[in-house]
Amino acid sequence: MTLFEKIIAREIPADIIYEDDLCCAFKDIEPQAPIHILIIPKKPIPRVGEAESQDRVTLGHLLLTAGKVANELGINSTDEGFRLVINNGKAGGEAVPHLHVHLLAGRQMEWPPG
Ligand code: AMP
Repeated sequence: MTLFEKIIAREIPADIIYEDDLCCAFKDIEPQAPIHILIIPKKPIPRVGEAESQDRVTLGHLLLTAGKVANELGINSTDEGFRLVINNGKAGGEAVPHLHVHLLAGRQMEWPPG
C-alpha cells in the first residue's frame, strides 16, 4: 500500500479538503507555497507515465478537481492564479509512487522551475 493509499484509507492522518469517488485532495505536509494541495486518484496509478487509456476519465477528473479546489480557495482568477505540477520519475523529482497533482498558490511562481 502506498503512503497516499494509507491517507485515503485514513490509516495515516492528513488534512483532507476534498474527496469524491475518484479522487482525494489534501494539504501537503511540507508546503512549498502558502497554498500547497495534493490531488490524487483513488486508483493507485504510480505515475502519469504509467497511466493507460482506461485512466483517461480519472486523469481528466484530477485537473477538473484542481480547478474546483482553486475555486473554493478563491484563487481561480487571472489575477490570483495557481500552478499545477506533476513530478514523474527520479529526475522529475518524484518521491511518492502514487500519481499526484501539486496545486501551488499564494505567491508569485517563477519560471523556469527548479
Ligand atoms: P513528489 O516529490 O512529487 O512525489 O511529491 C510528494 C509530496 O508528498 C511532497 O510534496 C511531500 O511533502 C508530500 N508528502 C509526503 N508525505 C506526506 C503526508 N504524510 N501528508 C501530506 N503530504 C505528504
